[in-house]
Amino acid sequence: MGQTCLTHERIPLLAELDVLIVGGGSAGCCAAIAAAENGRRFGLRVGLIERYGFAGGISTQTLDTFYGFFTPGAAPRKVVGGLPDRVVAELARSTDVFLRENTYGAGIGVTYNPERLKLVWDRLLVNAGVQVWLHTTLVDVETDSLGTATAAVIFSKEGFHRISAQRMIDASGDADLCHWLGLPSEKAGEIDPAQTLTTTFRMCNVDLARFGTEGGKAMLAERMQAAIDSGRHPLPRKAGSAHRMVQENCIATVAVRVADLDATVVEQLTQAELEGRRQAFVYEDFFRDMVPGYEHAKIIGLSHQIGVRETRRVYGEYRLTREDCLTARQFDDAVLLCGAPIEDHRAVGEGESETRWEYVADQQAYGVPYRTLVPKGRDEIWVVGRCFSATHDAHASCRSMAQTMSMGQAAGLAAVQSLQMDCGAREIAISKLRDSLLQLGAVLDLGSESAQQSNKAWKFGDREVAAL
Ligand SMILES: Cc1cc2nc3c(=O)[nH]c(=O)nc-3n(C[C@H](O)[C@H](O)[C@H](O)COP(=O)(O)OP(=O)(O)OC[C@H]3O[C@@H](n4cnc5c(N)ncnc54)[C@H](O)[C@@H]3O)c2cc1C
Repeated sequence: MGQTCLTHERIPLLAELDVLIVGGGSAGCCAAIAAAENGRRFGLRVGLIERYGFAGGISTQTLDTFYGFFTPGAAPRKVVGGLPDRVVAELARSTDVFLRENTYGAGIGVTYNPERLKLVWDRLLVNAGVQVWLHTTLVDVETDSLGTATAAVIFSKEGFHRISAQRMIDASGDADLCHWLGLPSEKAGEIDPAQTLTTTFRMCNVDLARFGTEGGKAMLAERMQAAIDSGRHPLPRKAGSAHRMVQENCIATVAVRVADLDATVVEQLTQAELEGRRQAFVYEDFFRDMVPGYEHAKIIGLSHQIGVRETRRVYGEYRLTREDCLTARQFDDAVLLCGAPIEDHRAVGEGESETRWEYVADQQAYGVPYRTLVPKGRDEIWVVGRCFSATHDAHASCRSMAQTMSMGQAAGLAAVQSLQMDCGAREIAISKLRDSLLQLGAVLDLGSESAQQSNKAWKFGDREVAAL
């Protein structure tokens, strides 16, 4: 099925697991933690492989703000809970997180220190008992005569190894596991235009007080327009976020825009990295030259890699659609909620806006069915995070990290349940899975007490995450 030419028989077995998670992003970490904590009493062995030297994926490689915890609008409701709450509570212990009003329309953001978050993911994974292999990349999948996945083929400094597992969760963002198994997926750009790629950058020595008194965000937008119109700085976008960080006098940006390149084709990904870095320093010149408060600012860091919003989206037992999102559709097998708008960043044509926003009806939230996490016809595999089963538009709404973490916790619990009950992914008793999610603190009903929680000072016991 796979497209590599490895001869599996000669590859040594590194470990035998019950559940293997491929990819340690926000979705994969939550899947692993949920599986390990809940599988412990059954003696289940849970492992996670991650190609980089730290966990978190885009949450630590690229970004600093969780969206999707709250519905947008004047009366925000909290639609996510459970492990994602625990991640925020851990960040709150060291005052590495605050709530941020999002003026672009996605609702309240939870802004954190991504370097601290690396440590938080480490601690949560290790304490849960997850066996973690960093610097380890999935390169193929071994199957039995029926086509069932039986082992991951991995590559590290030690060469090729196999890790066998009864159940696997694809949290690679690019659906690498499903790809090597030959499972069908829709590639970004195949039907709808693909979302653009962004190298994020952070700047220090910013005088935010001066920036504010000189006009803040409105002034920045004017200066961007002026820079483009005059040809003084060739900015790729005239919008984009430049927001305060946990660290004082520092800002983080989501501004760079690289379009029409496929991040699963290595030559194109290389081109994207070069272009993203080039654009970041065009912005540095612009900020220093034209924006009050930034006269002495400098870039102190670029994202670990260019941020990739979408690549492969696997075809699952159900595909979440634009109508499901915009009409706030509810499902009997919902395992998480999402109230985020469709936020589609794309290459602009004449007269088009850089980001397309479309909101869920009446500031409600829709349910995300369990079936979107199960690749079509499979019983030993789940797919979570940005490669879950959704159309382009639905993905553009449901890809925020509060939702990817929630998908992870649902799939982790489902994998344990399937082993415990000796059934396949498609035969899971949904009511039991939803009960386990509720016990963990997940929000599955917009009317619940948790959903009504105040967002002005978000409390974890005696700890508070306040708006700055
Ligand atoms: C530029 C940009 C801005 C965004 N802005 C926001 C925002 O402000 N707030 C928000 O909530 N969301 C935002 N999003 C969306 C959100 O960040 C992502 O959808 C989410 O983080 C995806 O999580 P994930 O765990 O599915 O994937 P990822 O975070 O991509 O994690 C996948 C992990 O798998 C690893 N991996 C990949 N392939 C392999 C392999 N073969 N073997 C082993 N490991 C592998 C990767 O290294 C990575 O750690 C943004 C996304 C981008 C790109």
